[in-house]
Amino acid sequence: MKRLLPVVWIALTLSLALGLVSAQDGADPTDTSLDALPPGATPAPLPTRMPRPAPSARVNGERASLAIFFETLPQGTTGLLYVSGEAVSGVRARFIDQLIDFYPISGDGFYGMISANMEQAPRRYPLDVFVSYDDGTREPINTEVELVLGGFITQEVNIPQDKGNLLGPDVERNELARLESIFGSVTLERWWDETGFQMPILAQLTSPFGAFRAFNSTLNTRHTGWDIRSTLGTPVMASAAGRVVYAGMMDIRGSYVMIDHGYGVYSGYAHLSQTHVTRGQTVAKGQIIGMTGDNGRTSGPHFHWEITVNGEWVDSVQFITMWMP
Ligand SMILES: [Zn+2]
Repeated sequence: MKRLLPVVWIALTLSLALGLVSAQDGADPTDTSLDALPPGATPAPLPTRMPRPAPSARVNGERASLAIFFETLPQGTTGLLYVSGEAVSGVRARFIDQLIDFYPISGDGFYGMISANMEQAPRRYPLDVFVSYDDGTREPINTEVELVLGGFITQEVNIPQDKGNLLGPDVERNELARLESIFGSVTLERWWDETGFQMPILAQLTSPFGAFRAFNSTLNTRHTGWDIRSTLGTPVMASAAGRVVYAGMMDIRGSYVMIDHGYGVYSGYAHLSQTHVTRGQTVAKGQIIGMTGDNGRTSGPHFHWEITVNGEWVDSVQFITMWMP
C-alpha cells in the first residue's frame, strides 16, 4: 500500500468518520444517500444466521425423501435441499445448468445448495435429484422449483475521470471470465462448519447485491456483491474456513482475495489496501485476510464482498443468513 501523508490520512479518516465522503463502489462522491444514514437514524441490525427452518415441502422417493427449505427461489439467491433415507451413499442434483454434489452430514443425511443466476427468467424449473444407495442402485426424485424476480434496485454511479479506462465493457467481461474460470470448479470438501458463514466486517451494509448500475451514464452493469461501509485499513475477516484460490490485482476489484469453501461455494473480498494471505494458503473462519482500501473501480474507500454458489453470483447476505449445517 502507498503511504499517505499523515495529514492527508487524518483528514481522510476524519471526513469518512463524519460521513463527508461517500465510500461506494463507484458512487458519486457528492451523493451520500447510498452510504450515509440520515441524521438521527438508527443503523439497521447486522444480518445474523437464522435457526434451522422447517421444510417448506417434501418429495418422497421409494427409499429416500427430499426436503426443500424454501418456498420460491428469487433471482440471485441460494436455496437449501436435504435428502435422508436408509443406506443412502450419495446425492447429486441437476437444476438449470448446475450439477450439484450434496455434502454428507454424519448421522443426519445429505445437504445440497441450488442457486439462481440474477438474470434467470422467472418461471418453474425442473429439479432432478439422483439418490445413490449402498447396494449400488440409484433412484431419481423429480420436482420443480419456482424461480421469482429478485427485486433489484437501480443506481446511477460516477467514478473519477482518471479511472475512465475501467468503464470499457471488455475490462468487465475479461475480469468476469477470469473469475468464472476460478469459481467454476467444485472442490468436494466442506471447509465451513456448523456455525456457517459470517460478515467479513461487522459494519453497516450499504449498496446491495444485484443492483442495476449505470456507470458515468456509459456502462450498464450489475453489482455482484454487497458493499460494506468502512474506512481505510479496516481488518477483513474470512467469512468461513477455506483455501485461498486468488490473491492479487484485478482491474475492477483492485487488490482481491478469493476463497474456496468447497462444494461450489466461494467468497471474494475486493479493493483491499493490504492482503495478508497468498494463493494456496488455508484460512480459518474469522482470520484476518487483509485490510480495506480503495483501489480498483471505486470512488473512495469502501469494502466489496461477494459470494458465488455453483458458478453463480449470489446475494452474500441472503447466503450467510440462510441456515445450513
Ligand atoms: Zn461493490
